[in-house]
Amino acid sequence: MSEADPAKNPYPWRMDDLVSLCARRGFVFPTSEIYGGINGFWDYGPLGVELKNNLKALWWQRVVRERDDVEGLDSAIICHPRTWEASGHVEHFSDPMVDCRACKKRFRADQLDDAGPCPAREGTSEHDFTDVRRFNLMLKTFIGASEDAAAVAYLRAETCQSIFTDFRRVKDTSRQKVPFGIAQIGKAFRNEINPRNFTFRSREFEQAELEFFIHPSERERWFAHWLEERKRFHRELGFHAGRLRVRPHTAQELAHYANAAADIEFLFPFGWQEIEGVHDRGDWDLRRHTEYSGKDLSVTDEETKEHFTPMVIETSVGIDRTALALLVNGYEEQKLPDGETRTLLRLHPAISPIKVAVLPLSKKLAEPAQRLAGELRRRYSTFYDESGNIGRRYRRQDEVGTPFCVTYDFESGTDGKVTVRERDAMTQERVSLEGVPAYLHDRLEVVL
Ligand code: ATP
Repeated sequence: MSEADPAKNPYPWRMDDLVSLCARRGFVFPTSEIYGGINGFWDYGPLGVELKNNLKALWWQRVVRERDDVEGLDSAIICHPRTWEASGHVEHFSDPMVDCRACKKRFRADQLDDAGPCPAREGTSEHDFTDVRRFNLMLKTFIGASEDAAAVAYLRAETCQSIFTDFRRVKDTSRQKVPFGIAQIGKAFRNEINPRNFTFRSREFEQAELEFFIHPSERERWFAHWLEERKRFHRELGFHAGRLRVRPHTAQELAHYANAAADIEFLFPFGWQEIEGVHDRGDWDLRRHTEYSGKDLSVTDEETKEHFTPMVIETSVGIDRTALALLVNGYEEQKLPDGETRTLLRLHPAISPIKVAVLPLSKKLAEPAQRLAGELRRRYSTFYDESGNIGRRYRRQDEVGTPFCVTYDFESGTDGKVTVRERDAMTQERVSLEGVPAYLHDRLEVVL
């Protein structure tokens, strides 16, 4: 794990602490762990899948459901191979790569600062690098029984290409008119030369992408609109203001067809890094697919009768990167007045994998406490725990970000009340049993 320049790292804990919490509590761990894992592939456990699902649901809510000008899509991971010729990926989607002749390790030529010393050379710790070569990042597979060139296909490197190829079908079936957008959440695959920084750079990951189709005269307006919307989304997730920034692309970084692009970046322990890109893609994609498929993807304005190829504003966010940023943003090792340390995940309640934990003070109170948990479970992801002392049970919930714990104690049977404890301030309140759902509703359903 490269932790860049410690002077620039604002976090008073080590990334390895968070990685180990994620494995220990079942958020994220290496895939095929019993076989030693595979570099760049991760599994999300019971808490991780809830966290990711919450994040995806919030994105879908904001980007698709709350708008009448955006439609959803769930396309196949394998597209027609011509798709990737049209998109330019077969020719250009590559990173510069070098090999070390001594230790046989492979590195991205633009990230050699992180290469570390060569373990295999005598008298020097410097690597013996080959010349730079281009390495195509698309993962290949074969369709059908033969493995010849005609059967080659690719696992998609980004989810957006099928949005372009499905453009006409979605537009016609949904009766949308430009300006409108198509959104999709799904897996993408890149054969990254050097997967690293936990899930940040993986070979299999999830993207949530929106392609918004517009008239060419409205590029600036819609670019500004979507950049603002997406900033608002990240602020809503509760990122600390000082750890989130927008970095506009320089003229040299812009693709030849692009008018503007900006990255939304988060300050990780390993530096400022992109979690989302907002791009003006011009009419590049629809034109290329028109050219390669021979199918016309232009539109006609019904009022003015103008015929044009729509331009595209894209927002593309990594679900795994944002989930990692949320974990980093929320992780805290807090010194308590009694000298103890508690580990805390300050997750936004909309994102927390468990919304409420029900804890009977004693196993003797299991029956009514379970009844309460059963009732809450119908609305919220609820965890029931009756083992261990109450302090330890609170700590176990704090470190996975559960916003509320409800304790059923020996008084509850007579006064009909339970104690609700809030995660961050650790305040405790007596609430009537029948009032618990409303109490949680007021505090948990602010956003969704
Ligand atoms: P980078 O420069 O970091 O490789 P990129 O500019 O190639 O990223 P895009 O192609 O714009 O990324 O993809 C959009 C989003 O998809 C990124 O902002 C990121 O959140 C996510 N993403 C891209 N590559 C990866 C990866 N290897 N692992 C996890 N998420 C990724």
